[in-house]
Amino acid sequence: MDQVVVAHPVVGVDYPGTYQQMREWFGDERSCLEYLERLRWPGGFVCPRCDAERAWRTGRGLWMCAVCGRKTSVTAGTIFHRTRTPLSTWFAAIWFVTSTKNGVSATGLQQNLGFGSYETAWAWLHKLRRAMVRPDRELLGGVVEVDETFVGGVSDGRDGASTDKVPVMVAVERVGSHKLGRVRLEVAPLPGSLEAVRFAARVVAPGSTISTDGARMFRRLADMGYTHTFVTAYNAPDPEKVLPGVHRVASLLKRWLIGTLHYAVSAQHLPYYLDEYTFRFNRRTARARGLLFYRLLQQAVNTDPHPLTELIHPTDPPVDF
Ligand SMILES: [Zn+2]
Repeated sequence: MDQVVVAHPVVGVDYPGTYQQMREWFGDERSCLEYLERLRWPGGFVCPRCDAERAWRTGRGLWMCAVCGRKTSVTAGTIFHRTRTPLSTWFAAIWFVTSTKNGVSATGLQQNLGFGSYETAWAWLHKLRRAMVRPDRELLGGVVEVDETFVGGVSDGRDGASTDKVPVMVAVERVGSHKLGRVRLEVAPLPGSLEAVRFAARVVAPGSTISTDGARMFRRLADMGYTHTFVTAYNAPDPEKVLPGVHRVASLLKRWLIGTLHYAVSAQHLPYYLDEYTFRFNRRTARARGLLFYRLLQQAVNTDPHPLTELIHPTDPPVDF
């Protein structure tokens, strides 16, 4: 799919710079729809059924394909699919979620937007998390540290069940000797399994250097198109210095999970919290917070809808829509 992508979106032109500006730009449904159209079809309308690029606009934000006649709306097939809430409220929620450095809890979102129910705010945050990591995201490159860490305070959802630690695979780019680049995080099915090698191969571009601990399974990375370096605890005096990037990401992640969520995360939802953390970490140096608003909206119109039934787990709070 050829799309004209805005490589360097400009504050005040491509996205709002302040809350005030966001409210001015997106005060009504029409302006929200037009913005979503720009993000979803930057090179002009493309029919989701036949890929034709000629269409007529009908009322209420619908497009009718000039070739196959299909009617489509810019929100169809996105996380805004069939939403009954005004888009301006969604935009305000996305602004709130992206303009705070560490994110918001469902209670915070509920209070800020005046939602009647906690469950609605909870469901919105989960929908947005699913848009935070693009499936076609770029691979990490350069020098990348890969290791596993354990995240505690995760419950399996059963009443009275003790919380447990879950293995999480971390890959982080090292830039120079002290700086970190982008990160990727995934829950590991089993700690210390070959899955960590597969994870590395999934998220790191071939030709890069992968740095790991001395675990023998990682040695095969050298035969998989990578330069593999490793440090064993034996030849490193301080275990924290073995993979300093992973160590730093792991401690920031744990602090963020505790600080943002204030309670145990269910194991089922941990992958989505990891996605949110990845989204925030990889944009931590963005000069304008509005850029995160822009990116999240852009990804939201390119993310499949997630009906509430799919979000609900029997042990989660009941969701009332
Ligand atoms: Zn068509």
